[in-house]
Amino acid sequence: MTKVLYPGSFDPITKGHMNVIEQASDLFDEVVVAVLQNQSKGLGFFTLEERLEIIRELYRDYQNIQVVLGNGAAVDLALLHGCKAIIRGLRGISDYDHEVQLAMTNQDISEGKVNTILLFASKEYQFVSSSMVREVFGLEKDINRYVDPFVQEKMLQKRRGY
Ligand code: ADP
Repeated sequence: MTKVLYPGSFDPITKGHMNVIEQASDLFDEVVVAVLQNQSKGLGFFTLEERLEIIRELYRDYQNIQVVLGNGAAVDLALLHGCKAIIRGLRGISDYDHEVQLAMTNQDISEGKVNTILLFASKEYQFVSSSMVREVFGLEKDINRYVDPFVQEKMLQKRRGY
C-alpha cells in the first residue's frame, strides 16, 4: 500500500492545493494532508485548528484522505504515519528552486527513507497561492475562483468575527 504525506500551511486551502490533493488521492492508496505551522509565515489568517476543520469538512466523503495537525519536521510526520513519500505541488518555475532544496534536505535528514513527489496543479490554478487569496480577500474582492465556496464562507465569517 502506498501512503503519501501532503504537508503545507494551507492558510487558506486553495483550489490549487485541492487539485493536488485530488490527484494524489487518485494516484495513491492513502493521502495524509498535514497542516503545519510555517514559522516564517507568522500567525496567519486561520488558526491551525480552523484549517484542520475546514480541510476535514471538504474531504469528509473521501475514504482515502486523512487530515492531521503536525509540528516539527515533515519527514518525521511522514515516518510516523507510514508514508514513503512527501507530495509537493509545483507552480511553474517559481517554486522549483525552493522545492528542490526542500526535497534534498528531506532526503538527507530522513537518511533516504522519505522521498519527494512533485505534482502540478491544473493550469488554471498555476498562479493561485494562499497569500494571493488573503491579499485579494483583504481588498474585499471576490475569491470564489481561487477557493471552494465553503472556504470563502469561513473567511467571511472570520472577518465578521464569528
Ligand atoms: P508551505 O508553507 O509549505 O509552502 P503551502 O500551503 O503554501 O505550504 O503549500 C503547500 C504545497 O502546495 C507546496 O508544495 C506548494 O508549492 C503547493 N502549492 C500551493 N499552491 C499551489 C498551486 N496553485 N498549484 C500547485 N501547487 C501548489
